[in-house]
This record gives sequence, structure tokens and C-alpha cells, in this order.
Amino acid sequence: MVTAAAPMHLVMFGRPGSGKSSLAEHLGAEFGYQLIRTGEMLREAVRRGDFLGARVENHLARGDLVPDELIFELLEINLKSPQKARLLFDGFPRTLGQVELLDRFEKKLGFAIDCFVDVVVTREDSVARMTGRRVCPTCGATYHLLAKPPRLPETCDIDGSHLEKRKDDTMEVVSFRQKIYEEQTQPVINHYLAVSPEICRSVDGGQSVDAVYAETCRVLGVRR
Ligand code: ADP
Repeated sequence: MVTAAAPMHLVMFGRPGSGKSSLAEHLGAEFGYQLIRTGEMLREAVRRGDFLGARVENHLARGDLVPDELIFELLEINLKSPQKARLLFDGFPRTLGQVELLDRFEKKLGFAIDCFVDVVVTREDSVARMTGRRVCPTCGATYHLLAKPPRLPETCDIDGSHLEKRKDDTMEVVSFRQKIYEEQTQPVINHYLAVSPEICRSVDGGQSVDAVYAETCRVLGVRR
């Protein structure tokens, strides 16, 4: 069900491990957003082994950001003709350079972001969550050993594949990704807080999954 009050186009921010991607999936399913998830698009390109995948693979494994010009290429391909009226960006923009890219896509495709949501968790909480994360190498479904375990140990509920740890979820890479987030993405949030405070919202991501979802719906002003 889509309510009249739901924002049309959203950007979600949050540290790696903040739970923003699960939240985005839930919002997408309930309110009909098309999810634009750059991380998933990049991992998909690596799985396919195409030209873009080959150029981004090392960045992903190191936990480093992919250069802005490759993110532009990725979105040029994937944003050509959005299938749904409402867009939810998960993982973009992540650098001040990408703020400009978003401006360009808004003008070119004729849409305007009307809400920025920051899912706030401490560095310690997000690190703990990331190390328990497991993914399905076949369909990309994500699980968590404590918060969202699969029905059978280490096995995907959807297709039965053996679950894996993401290459960038090792302790060393996880700490690096937190640092990158603080240095490169926090300034993006500060930018929008300075230029468009009226459409910036923040949610306490340290609560239970249900409580975070309820608070997100409340700050978005949507009825369920
Ligand atoms: P997380 O939010 O846990 O970091 P994502 O799936 O959003 O997970 O991103 C995984 C990786 O994909 C990042 O560490 C980075 O290497 C790359 N990536 C995703 N989105 C972007 C982006 N907008 N700009 C640069 N790199 C990106």
C-alpha cells in the first residue's frame, strides 16, 4: 500500500552494518519503492564478471570506495528508465563528488529527492553486526547469525546454497570501512543537513529491527 504522505524519492544513509539495507528492503516491499543499491549492483557486476565488475572487484574486497566515475557509469546503465515511480537510494551518494552526480541524475531524469534518512548506530554496534553477517552467493539474500539466522545452519532459506561471509566483512576490512564512512560519507550527511535541513531525518538504528522500522515510518510520516 502506498500512502499519499510517503516521500516520493528517498536517500538512506547509515554506517556499514547499520541495518539500512534491510530497512530499505522492508520499505520497498511495503510502499513500492524501487531500490537503487549501488553495493548490490557492484557485487552483481563482480559475480557476472563483466568489464565493470573486473574494475571494481579489488575496491570491494579492500572495503575501499569505488571511484566516482565508475559509480556514474553504473548508475547511467541502471537508472536509464526507472521501473517504479518511487526511488529509494541505498548506498549513494557516498562522497561529496557523488552529491554532484545525484544532482545531475535528478535534472536529467526529472526527479527530486524529498527525504534524506540517516540510520544512526555507534561504530561498536555496527562492527559487531557486520561480523555476524552471512550472504547467499547465489541470490544475494542476507542473514545474521544472531539477528536473522537462516532456518538451517549456514544454508540459504530461498535456494539452499551454502552461506558465505562477504569478503569485505573480515575484521580488518570492517574497521577500514568504518573509517571510510566517517571520512567520506559523514560529510555528505553534514552537507544535506546544512543545505536542506527541512527534509533530513534521523532514526535510532540501535533499537530492535521492528522498532527501527516503526520509527522510520513515523519520521517519514507514513501510515501502515
Ligand atoms: P555497506 O553499506 O555495508 O558498506 P554496500 O553494499 O552498500 O554495503 O557497499 C559495499 C561496497 O560497495 C562498499 O564498501 C564500496 O566498496 C562499494 N560501494 C557501494 N556503493 C558505493 C558508492 N556509492 N560509491 C563508492 N563505492 C560504493
